[in-house]
Amino acid sequence: MHSTPITETCPLSPPSVPATAAPDALTGIRDFQRHTAPLLRPELARLAREGQSPSQLFITCADSRMVPNVITNSGPGELFTVRNIGNLVPPTADDSVFAAVEYAVDVLNVRHITVCGHSGCGAMQSLLHGAHRRDGRAGTPLTRWLRHGQDSLHRVRHTPARFHGRPPSTDPLERLCLTNVVQQLDNLRAHPSVARRAELGTIRLTGLYFELTTAQTYVWSPGSRGFLPVRPRVAAA
Ligand SMILES: [Zn+2]
Repeated sequence: MHSTPITETCPLSPPSVPATAAPDALTGIRDFQRHTAPLLRPELARLAREGQSPSQLFITCADSRMVPNVITNSGPGELFTVRNIGNLVPPTADDSVFAAVEYAVDVLNVRHITVCGHSGCGAMQSLLHGAHRRDGRAGTPLTRWLRHGQDSLHRVRHTPARFHGRPPSTDPLERLCLTNVVQQLDNLRAHPSVARRAELGTIRLTGLYFELTTAQTYVWSPGSRGFLPVRPRVAAA
């Protein structure tokens, strides 16, 4: 356990930073060490001893406004998380995402995989603006990555996902953000490890959509072909 504040001498945190400057990368960590670390220490020590056994793989966007552990009310050891631009599961082998799915399913034996998209997703906005076609055939790492979202673009033209009980949204970005979640679930099903477990009936896939403006989570309901709001759990009387 590092009780010594080793960050004091870290070059990332020059001692001459004026008090009025924006918080640096270590400001929050210092607060964590003071207030939160003592509370988490027993649980983290247990997890360090026993190893992790998360119940689910949670795939979401890298967007800073998305905070998976907050919206799922979960803590250390509960979510095996993959974050990338656009919460994409590439339809063709991508070593990073494919390795994470393989590890989660085959090694950690998760029983549940969630794909969580969100409103106002910059990746979806970029797709709508054709960013994946820019920069020529070679592209940049970003434009090449966005090409993994082309199936979602295709799908939204033909079968846009919608909120349950409502017509498809008139907002093209909202339509694509919703539809992208459903497409990524299909991409996941094609992953060999997931396909194997799906055949055995030992894995469940869930699509979520988080609306930032209302802090409301919606869940994809394949039966009703729509996203339903997740209602608060009512405490037992
Ligand atoms: Zn996003």
